[in-house]
Amino acid sequence: MTQSPPTRPELADVPTGAFIAGEWRSLPRTFSVDTPFDGSELARVSDAGPQEAQEAIEAAVAAFDDWKSDNFKRADLIAKWADLIEANTDRMARVMALEMGKPVGECRAEIGGGLMYIRYYVDAARHISGERVSSRFAHKRGLTRSEPVGVVYAVTPWNFPMSMIARKAGPALAAGCPMILKPAEQSPLTALLLADLWKQAGGPAGTLQVLATSQPAEFSSPFFDDARVRKITFTGSTDVGRRLYAQAAPTLKKVSLELGGHAPTLIFADADLELAVRESMVAKFRNAGQTCITANRFYVHESVVDEFAAKFAEAASKLKMGDPLDAGTEIGPLVDEQGHAKVTAHVQDAIERGATALAGGESGGGRFFRPTVLKGVQPGTRLLKEETFGPVAPIVSFSSDEEAVKLANDSEYGLAAYVFTRDLSRAFRVTEALEYGIIGVNDGGPVGAAPQAPFGGFKSSGVGKEGGHWGIDEYLQVKYIGFGI
Ligand code: NAD
Repeated sequence: MTQSPPTRPELADVPTGAFIAGEWRSLPRTFSVDTPFDGSELARVSDAGPQEAQEAIEAAVAAFDDWKSDNFKRADLIAKWADLIEANTDRMARVMALEMGKPVGECRAEIGGGLMYIRYYVDAARHISGERVSSRFAHKRGLTRSEPVGVVYAVTPWNFPMSMIARKAGPALAAGCPMILKPAEQSPLTALLLADLWKQAGGPAGTLQVLATSQPAEFSSPFFDDARVRKITFTGSTDVGRRLYAQAAPTLKKVSLELGGHAPTLIFADADLELAVRESMVAKFRNAGQTCITANRFYVHESVVDEFAAKFAEAASKLKMGDPLDAGTEIGPLVDEQGHAKVTAHVQDAIERGATALAGGESGGGRFFRPTVLKGVQPGTRLLKEETFGPVAPIVSFSSDEEAVKLANDSEYGLAAYVFTRDLSRAFRVTEALEYGIIGVNDGGPVGAAPQAPFGGFKSSGVGKEGGHWGIDEYLQVKYIGFGI
């Protein structure tokens, strides 16, 4: 089936082809993109395969020499792209709300956050430099030079269709790397819109290419096989991340992996409970709990657990579920039926093992799931081990700081954690003992989501960082040049 024009007015000018070598191309194969709100089809999008992947690699390789040659020109182009994205914020937010179900206000906030990353790296592009290295010999001098690693293949998830791209494209393009992006099959339209704005900004052919596919493994294999692709950057699940890490080994590509999480929230007896409730509402229910840093497990001191649970459940039950395009909606649908089925299974498992639902505890119809707070969650419950990716807060009590830290660290993941306490020395002791890459103290976040901060996980949550100088270093390699004078 060939492309049909998208059915909704919001999607009228959104491209549905593959963006290769600076041009839009309609491919004979297409796949359907639906809206999680009611499951109806939004558009059919060109379904790229290995042949198009190979063409994109050739275009990126051809673009590299020129693209890497002038960092000031790159900075100006990226700044222009950012301005165009900003001017298209409302339109892009509606596209995003339609294709992945996030409330439109949150979509706008995501685009604003993504723009901060892109603009941070505009500045970083202008500051790429080297160092003078000392020598023990009077007649020798040394210099370093930071150079782009080369062609980058980027793979992104559906839960943040704009900002996950911004965190990769911003530093990669700033560093001088051409990037080929494969967005998630659930949310390709935002990515295709970003590609169109890159074209409008005057981005040279082959510098940023975006190809959607319904066959991610098959489509991706040329990037792993081709030694000219020097960098893989991936955000998604730990299972897929592991596979891509292994695939990148034979050609020794540089690899960044932002993977799954299972964030613990520790609420101590001295915490400001009103603040803990308010901040945890953000940490837990933003994007209906479909974030890698979502608060997955709440460990609350036994002396305050009943009070916290009651207040948190009251706040959760007031959240407004509805159409993501309505300005007042706070909880949208889950992205797909598998996501909904997983959340339902996790909640049923917890209830069967003895937990009590203080709020929600059931489907809200279609792909919606009611904001849920569960008390008395038993050890071994799936919710306490696996990434649920839904609006569900399991609460467990603890009696000592040591127990809280032990429970929190009992996970293969190490992405984000949250700590609520008014005791400064406890905050230091606990944050230093937690095996997590990003920690919010009295802060529900989005923790770590600032362009100047390092964002990335420990253990099975990933390799490498996004944000700050760490984020652009992932796309640079350092050359040493020694001189005898
Ligand atoms: P996913 O791993 O299923 O898919 C992510 C991307 O990988 C998609 O684009 C998909 O098409 C692609 N993909 C899947 N199999 C592939 C293969 N064999 N080869 C190449 N590409 C392949 O994850 P998801 O369900 O889209 O996203 C949710 C996951 O992402 C969660 O685990 C979440 O925690 C994680 N995530 C992590 C961060 C972070 O910064 N650490 C941010 C957002 C999401």
